Amino acid sequence: MAFKFIDNYREKGARKKLVEELRKRGIADEKVLAVIGKVKRHYFFDETFWAQAYLDKAFPIGEGQTISNPYTVAYQSELLHIKKGDKVLEIGTGCGYQTCVLIELGADVYTIERQEKLYQRTIQVLPHLGYKAHFFLGDGSKGIAEHAPYDKIIVTAGAPMVPQILLRQLKIGGILVIPVGDEKEQKMVTVIRINENDFEKIVLDTFRFVPLLGDQAW
Ligand code: SAM
Repeated sequence: MAFKFIDNYREKGARKKLVEELRKRGIADEKVLAVIGKVKRHYFFDETFWAQAYLDKAFPIGEGQTISNPYTVAYQSELLHIKKGDKVLEIGTGCGYQTCVLIELGADVYTIERQEKLYQRTIQVLPHLGYKAHFFLGDGSKGIAEHAPYDKIIVTAGAPMVPQILLRQLKIGGILVIPVGDEKEQKMVTVIRINENDFEKIVLDTFRFVPLLGDQAW
């Protein structure tokens, strides 16, 4: 498959406006805002939607899945407190936009997608855009034990509960960010691993994600 990113599309400052909008909505981490201002989101989905690429909207990416809206991407990224060199597991690669945001923040990203068509597309698009990640195809609800432990884990689909197996793949001091709820809406949850057996859970705002499907999910 060949990808041509011939950019006839002119953003006309749209990314800058998006950054200001996210700032107004409460995203305060300047590093996250700078990255949202840098990654060209329109490359990650169909040209039909390019004119709206820098609005705070979700779009279809195929296989019944969506790219999350930029506010959600920024919100989850902020909660992860990425430090340069952090080993991050991302569950739900989708089109790879969030993956690129994490890479730009300095993370070494292990990302897993269960939909083969999305996986196949994303493993070609990201290197084409100059982004390197470790890509996996399969059920990420179980994590990827063979590469654990991780500094951070981000789940980009809505789960019915926090999979305990993911908590065991966190380093001490590591952070898991996961939306948890029913099919209609989920609360963003962060879990910090305090020590071997203790975890601190914080329940935050409400979002709406596509479902996390799999062994430890729906
Ligand atoms: N962060 C993504 C992006 O930037 O495009 C958006 C991801 S989309 C909201 C959620 C993704 O999670 C979908 O691509 C879906 O196929 C995937 N997914 C759902 N359950 C999964 C599982 N058990 N393992 C891996 N991926 C899963």
